Amino acid sequence: MVSNMTGSFQLMKSLNRSLVLNIIRTEGAISRTETAKKAGLTPPTVSTIVSELLEEGLIREGQTGVSSGGRKPILLSINHNSRYVIGVDVGTEEVRAALTNLNADVLAVKKKQLVPGMNEEEFLSIVIGLVQSMLEEKAADGAHVIGIGVGMHGIVDHTKGESIYAPHFGFQNMPIKVPLEEAFQLPVHVENDVRSMALAELWFGGGRNSEDLLVINVGHGIGAGCIVNGRIYRGRHHIAGEIGHMIVDLNGRQCTCGGYGCLHTVASGIRIRERVIQEITLGRKTAVLDEVDGEKERIDGETVHRAAMKGDYYAQEVLAEVGRFLGVGITNLIHALNPDKIIIGGGVSKAGDYIFKPLQKVVGTRAVTDAAKKTEIELSKLGDTAAIRGAATLVLSELYDYQKQER
Ligand SMILES: [Zn+2]
Repeated sequence: MVSNMTGSFQLMKSLNRSLVLNIIRTEGAISRTETAKKAGLTPPTVSTIVSELLEEGLIREGQTGVSSGGRKPILLSINHNSRYVIGVDVGTEEVRAALTNLNADVLAVKKKQLVPGMNEEEFLSIVIGLVQSMLEEKAADGAHVIGIGVGMHGIVDHTKGESIYAPHFGFQNMPIKVPLEEAFQLPVHVENDVRSMALAELWFGGGRNSEDLLVINVGHGIGAGCIVNGRIYRGRHHIAGEIGHMIVDLNGRQCTCGGYGCLHTVASGIRIRERVIQEITLGRKTAVLDEVDGEKERIDGETVHRAAMKGDYYAQEVLAEVGRFLGVGITNLIHALNPDKIIIGGGVSKAGDYIFKPLQKVVGTRAVTDAAKKTEIELSKLGDTAAIRGAATLVLSELYDYQKQER
């Protein structure tokens, strides 16, 4: 009984601490009095928490604010460089690890290619090696790294910290959290890579003012991270957001998942490459071939985009069709989830208006109401850093997110 009471007192203390930290983070600079008002806590409680946070170096006192009569209040802000986080982004071809500060600003980054056919031990030793080299980076003196966040492609069980299925390598039920925690004695959080990207957009990107946000990654594959009521939505079996396997053509081509006509088979980077190579083999004349000096195998989304920019009609049409199919997929998602905003990232999104204009046209004509037709859709401004900043944010959300600790 006694220990329970102590437990709940400790929990309340830590909830209030996260609450105060999060208010200081979101406000940028704020006085003690304003913090107390926003937190709904008494000024003495806030004062005690602030003293602790100052002592730990997590926050600092800075410029003075506007006075409402008496002495000008001193404003508090987060001391972003007082602690570090390591973010790891596991793609299908490479792993990148970054050292970030408490604002998920990337301070150093290292990457390593993943070899097709490698086994789980080889994969984990690559990840461990990269994390180790980040810990050794000059900026980090080891003791100040507060955790490791891993954004992993494929289906992830974030509670166990396991990769349930990573299709590109065939890994199944592979523990990531446990071996990394054992290796480094630091808390480790593992999440699907696109959900990590969605978190980065929500905290630092175009999603900062959204509660219901959809972040769609269109690269080699297609996936989405759903934020509902400001929180990651994962679904019952961890597959919410697997929109690459949304069926858009009942009689379509076979997909890597075994089904037919998935969005992945018509709008992914892999499909763009396949289609163009196939049609060139059948005799299609296109400037795409000039972009790769006649070597078909080198064709990818980027070369098609370059040909489109030089006015190649065929390349433009291939990208427009991808845009139309994405528009169909996104219209379906708007009808299922009705988000405030949709952000599109990933390699294919770099083709910009060649894809974006036809996509917007489909949503603008096919969504069911005028408001839905006008759903805000934009390209990611975080670009290539979204996934790695998102991985770091998995750790930050433990530090700042009082609601998360409440559960
Ligand atoms: Zn599929």
